[in-house]
Amino acid sequence: MRIDLHTHSVASDGTQTPAQVVASAAWVGLDVVALTDHDTSAGWDEAVAAGREHGVAVVRGVEMSCRAGGRSVHLLSYLPDPDDAALRAEADTIRDARRSRARSIVELVAQDYELTWDDVLEQTVPGTTVGRPHIADALVARGHVPDRTAAFSTILATGSPYYVPHYATPVLRAIRLVRAAGGVPVVAHPGAEGRDRPVSDKEIEAMVEAGLAGLEVHHRDNSPEQVERLTAAAARWGLLVTGSSDYHGAGKENLLGEHTTRPEVLAEIEAQGRTAVVRP
Ligand code: AMP
Ligand code: FE
Ligand code: FE
Ligand code: ZN
Repeated sequence: MRIDLHTHSVASDGTQTPAQVVASAAWVGLDVVALTDHDTSAGWDEAVAAGREHGVAVVRGVEMSCRAGGRSVHLLSYLPDPDDAALRAEADTIRDARRSRARSIVELVAQDYELTWDDVLEQTVPGTTVGRPHIADALVARGHVPDRTAAFSTILATGSPYYVPHYATPVLRAIRLVRAAGGVPVVAHPGAEGRDRPVSDKEIEAMVEAGLAGLEVHHRDNSPEQVERLTAAAARWGLLVTGSSDYHGAGKENLLGEHTTRPEVLAEIEAQGRTAVVRP
């Protein structure tokens, strides 16, 4: 059984449709794939239908944009009640905040580069959770930078004068919201150093008290030292250990199935989740 529990589609900042993500998962020999777009469940139905067609089991998830200690932290939420009003409202709030923040970034960038909001919308489908990757794509289309990564290391870097932050849910509140909706909360890439400082053991302890279920230990952004620390933290607090690719199609180098999750861990996620994995 090969299981990848973290992927993105055009519903957020991936470059493939949900159906294409699932078809790609089948192509690389995955048995189970989770679609975890940023702050939206818009891709779920299409992914589930494609799973039935391609013989891949689909896990419905969301990667929630959160905040802790003044920096961005991502929380994966697996198998929540799709109709939970509080969780849906929070996701709506984040998506709205992301959209106005993206407009602010574009206004700033437009002072120095030819760029319009319509350029950015052209890089999205209706309802997309807008992020810097779409602004990056618009900058590429205008010929200002060669690719997304170049945009992120220059104009769109977190320390750039054009950078604007956005509202994101305080992570402890997000964990409680996810649990209340029957979802299974797992911190995404907690050891990532490239984005900001890793999630500390002390922060993990507070998250455990709030109801955290697991840590995404195996992810390309966690260094070997971080994997060792996070493995120990997971053992200490009895947390689930997941591994996943964080696939974004052509938008990032991450390859489907480059890290995977053990079947026993998926079984435990399913046991804790409100809804079931959709098997073909
Ligand atoms: P945002 O959430 O709008 O601040 O943008 C951050 C998102 O951009 C992350 O979730 C990543 O998926 C994506 N990202 C970050 N760095 C890169 C990169 N170098 N190339 C492509 N996508 C990136
Ligand atoms: Fe992303
Ligand atoms: Fe993330
Ligand atoms: Zn992700």
